[in-house]
Amino acid sequence: MTLDLDPAILWLLIPGFLVTVVAAYLLGARNGGRRVLRRLHRFSNNHAPAGMEEVPADRYRAALVINPTKANAKNIAATAKAICRFEGWAPPLIFETTLEDAGEGAANEALEAGVDVVIAAGGDGTIRAVASALTGTATPMGIIPMGTGNLLARNLDLVLDKPEWAIRIALWGRNRDVDVGVAQISRGGDRHVFMVMTGLGFDAEVMAKTTANAKSRLGWLAYLEAGSRTLVGRPSHVKITYDDDYRVSARVRSVIGGNCGKLQGGIQLLPEAVIDDGLLDVLVVSPKNLGQWVGVAASIIGRKTRNGLHTDIRKCHNVVIESRDELEVQLDGDPAGTTKYLAMGILPSAITVKVPTTDQRKEIRAEVWPV
Ligand SMILES: [Mg+2]
Repeated sequence: MTLDLDPAILWLLIPGFLVTVVAAYLLGARNGGRRVLRRLHRFSNNHAPAGMEEVPADRYRAALVINPTKANAKNIAATAKAICRFEGWAPPLIFETTLEDAGEGAANEALEAGVDVVIAAGGDGTIRAVASALTGTATPMGIIPMGTGNLLARNLDLVLDKPEWAIRIALWGRNRDVDVGVAQISRGGDRHVFMVMTGLGFDAEVMAKTTANAKSRLGWLAYLEAGSRTLVGRPSHVKITYDDDYRVSARVRSVIGGNCGKLQGGIQLLPEAVIDDGLLDVLVVSPKNLGQWVGVAASIIGRKTRNGLHTDIRKCHNVVIESRDELEVQLDGDPAGTTKYLAMGILPSAITVKVPTTDQRKEIRAEVWPV
């Protein structure tokens, strides 16, 4: 028996058959929906620049935002590529920070490319810039500490001098949600994020006076050196408003808002600060002469800053400081000019950071002290 089909019907059946086959293939594929969307997205985004093509659907991909002025930057980028290859990840997107873009623009491009993690390789300044882009997104931040202070890495108890491990932790570590600080340095002005501390007065003056040259020569001792040149100075009259409610007026040398409080050398500037409690710890430092600075130092070393000699710490959700004089301001150690107004707050659990898993910690320890 022969099937006598009108050629016109055949022409209708063939495209219908093809559509069905293609749809079945796409829907049947593992992670079908996501893959179909990715493919459609790729077809509609053919204009991506070289090296910025869409993430392969079946492989993870990292972006590395690296500060090329740090010693060892070239090696670390090469190591990151090698570890990604070894771990079965797609080749990482590599961005170098510049004077114009400290890392926020690069991290935004990485987000657009749909990477699985953005690794900030640099000092606290680079980390702050990358965090500005990642805050409020679900994309985690990996950290390769390459700076002078590396304060965020210290506060998160990350490995400081093992870049290979820092990269592995960025790829396969545990996701931890932490708070992000926000600061406004003028009324109604831009909101800047910070991960560690923002300060007004003495501490910011020290940051502004510490040169990059001294930092590379002396390490964090450079801050002490600049600090000693800044100790003698006049306290400033400020009004401090905690949580829009509790008001204090004082003569201060420094007001510091911290998301976490550990400094170099195990010093706890804000002993009760917790990076994921949704609260800001505000330290007011008010010595009037050199002798009282000794009291401040003793309070800090003895972890008594909460009710120490010429120091006071209060926890709050937000704080506004209004000063009679223009004072220097710093965000995570980056000088940010002078101001008479500083508002700070906290965005609870606003960023995901890669921290070592228990197994990774064990492996790192085993590497240091082989059994
Ligand atoms: Mg906190």
